[in-house]
Amino acid sequence: MKEWIKMMLGATVRRAPAVGAEFIAAKTKAMIARRDLGSTYQSVRAHIRSTEYATGEEIRAFQLKKCKDIVQYAWEHCSGYREHWKKYGFAPEQLQSYSDIRRIPEISKEQIRDNLAGFSTKESSRCKYITTSGSTGIPLGLYLDRAAESTEFAFLHDMWEERSFCPVSRSVIIRGAGVQGGFRGNPYAELTLFGDLLLSAYHITRETAHLYLDTIKIFKPGYIQAYPSALTQLTIACIETGISIEKHDLQAIILASEKLYDKDKEYLQRFWKAPLIHFYGMTEKVILAGPCKSNDLFHVYPQYGLAEVIKEDGSEAAEDEMGHLVGTSFFMRKTLFIRYRTGDLAVKGNNYCPDCRRHYLLLKEIVGRNAELIITDDYHKIPFSMAIGSIHNKLFQGMDQFQFMQATAGNLVCKYVSHEEMPTWQKQAIETDIREKVGKHLQLSFQRVPIIPKNVNGKYSFFKSELLGGGHDEPR
Ligand SMILES: [Zn+2]
Repeated sequence: MKEWIKMMLGATVRRAPAVGAEFIAAKTKAMIARRDLGSTYQSVRAHIRSTEYATGEEIRAFQLKKCKDIVQYAWEHCSGYREHWKKYGFAPEQLQSYSDIRRIPEISKEQIRDNLAGFSTKESSRCKYITTSGSTGIPLGLYLDRAAESTEFAFLHDMWEERSFCPVSRSVIIRGAGVQGGFRGNPYAELTLFGDLLLSAYHITRETAHLYLDTIKIFKPGYIQAYPSALTQLTIACIETGISIEKHDLQAIILASEKLYDKDKEYLQRFWKAPLIHFYGMTEKVILAGPCKSNDLFHVYPQYGLAEVIKEDGSEAAEDEMGHLVGTSFFMRKTLFIRYRTGDLAVKGNNYCPDCRRHYLLLKEIVGRNAELIITDDYHKIPFSMAIGSIHNKLFQGMDQFQFMQATAGNLVCKYVSHEEMPTWQKQAIETDIREKVGKHLQLSFQRVPIIPKNVNGKYSFFKSELLGGGHDEPR
């Protein structure tokens, strides 16, 4: 849809009385669905279904072919890739076997950002231009065509359908986007042109929680799509103010873009009583991974792109090892992403899920570029979410608040707010739990404090490190 039509219709929806606005939005949603869920969408869905139970060997053969195609295409159409590869002595002919894929030099976000035209095809400037959220530094702009958008929908719907998603159901969306308020008197809610309801992630407090919940009750969404932190904040604000939602039509809660902590998961499940779908994806459309019916491990779609977990020395991580997540998109053909360092870190799992019997790469953990990393005394980096984020709530019983602090390698301080000193058995239980995950190279101490201050953005973080960054070197 042309931008000006979208703006005009959007303004009409915002001004129209509620019933009229919902009518227009429903019509637009149906129209957009017909466009986005057309022949490309249908053929990608069919392709996923016909290949999801392929053997590991078949998948590798398919991925090698896709890599060869996209590398050849980039060589012919993108001067940026040609020059970058020539500098490292790589040419498409060298790509013969699956292991040759690692001979393709990696590319970083900064390199694409600084030479977008070189890493995009010539006619791409006529396509849609979007930017990444910029949560990991300066945003990256990129071009994509309609086929890429429809392909993305096909994969998302396939993943969500595992837990009964229906693409025409309307959603409540709680994310960072600006909200031009006013839906049924709620200044933090906006009905989008596509029939979904946008709620501001920035105004959730104990005072506004009832407004949010009332709006959700009136709107009756089939789904909530949210950042885990935003929905958790709303959920806790509701619990603390004693409000609840007894009856709803929610089929699932779809969470992305952030780590989902086990303790937040418990809150969300207890309060909303709806299944959770937590997945990993990105604007660059390089890697997409989500849960299956039976477990929450990230299953990477091999038909979407190639995902690799690469250690600092450039070799591939083994199971349970952490490395940089590097991806190659098979369908982004305007701005191309080939062995692209996503900036995220992942802990590799097996290449097979015994529950759903798919030979998909599994990732046990994914953490962002600005990952919260604990540094042991032998300088190993361990994601905080794995070491402590997964400790059971029960172990923190009796504490009003807690925060782990790291000032020197190998030492971690657990600060906590409580009306009494934590008993020794509890300290020992926490320590044992952490040691099981981290090993012996980390000393833990406890400190009772009167208050734990919030961050500048009003969030309260469970981990603070004074050690420098996460050790992100530029790609080779
Ligand atoms: Zn599975």
